[in-house]
Amino acid sequence: SSNTDFVLAVEDLTVSFDGFKAIDNLNLYVDHNELRVIIGPNGAGKTTLLDMICGKTKATSGSIKFHNEEMTALPEFTRVRKGIGRKFQTPSIYENLSVFQNLEVSFPKGRSVLGAVFFKCTAEVKDRVQAIAEEIGLADTLNTEAGLLSHGQKQWLEVGMLLMQDPELLMLDEPIAGMSVREREITAELLKKISNNRSVIVIEHDMEFVKKIAQKVTVMHQGKILAEGSMDDVQNNPQVIEVYLGH
Ligand code: ADP
Repeated sequence: SSNTDFVLAVEDLTVSFDGFKAIDNLNLYVDHNELRVIIGPNGAGKTTLLDMICGKTKATSGSIKFHNEEMTALPEFTRVRKGIGRKFQTPSIYENLSVFQNLEVSFPKGRSVLGAVFFKCTAEVKDRVQAIAEEIGLADTLNTEAGLLSHGQKQWLEVGMLLMQDPELLMLDEPIAGMSVREREITAELLKKISNNRSVIVIEHDMEFVKKIAQKVTVMHQGKILAEGSMDDVQNNPQVIEVYLGH
């Protein structure tokens, strides 16, 4: 298949900070409905790469294509509208609003936070909130104030808020940080489910979790891709072993 078939095609991507290349001539291709895990030691450039894909950090050179459309010069909010979603580690939910309202205000043409409190929403938005709530396992807590949710539930709610915008590519930075064993299991299932009809990129350090969810693993080191393939492939790669033992 040609490079135009990918959801995401990152080519010759570089970013320099004062001459230091945090991302160094990197190529990355992500397929439709793929769940890709990026691993690598601290400082490898994983977060910087996601920052560049979502538009938070501008490239020094190279290109980022989403559905074969050049994203590199577009601002972050335009990329969101085109279907690139990004979840950061710190949840940005509205603690004083209900789960329902949090999802409702995240609808693309949704109203302001104040609007959600004072007006009834349309049937279209309601249906979508219900569908997403079911997908993230929070359908029974729609009326619960978000601030009262468990740590895991808050994280899933934020995923749901991103899903309300109907992203085709969702990127998550260490999604299980701070979670219990049970919450990690639920998150693994959730990520698999989400990637049934969307592409997902996850940065993860916990190797047990990586083994549980990964189809294809990308190993980064010093701003470059060191290895790529199945978990078995990369685990047995001598260069990968050296990088991890060296730490
Ligand atoms: P990872 O997520 O793999 O731990 P990062 O992407 O956070 O790695 O960082 C990669 C390298 O780039 C690190 O050496 C970091 O210090 C550097 N870096 C990241 N962002 C900036 C920035 N805005 N200015 C200067 N250096 C940065």
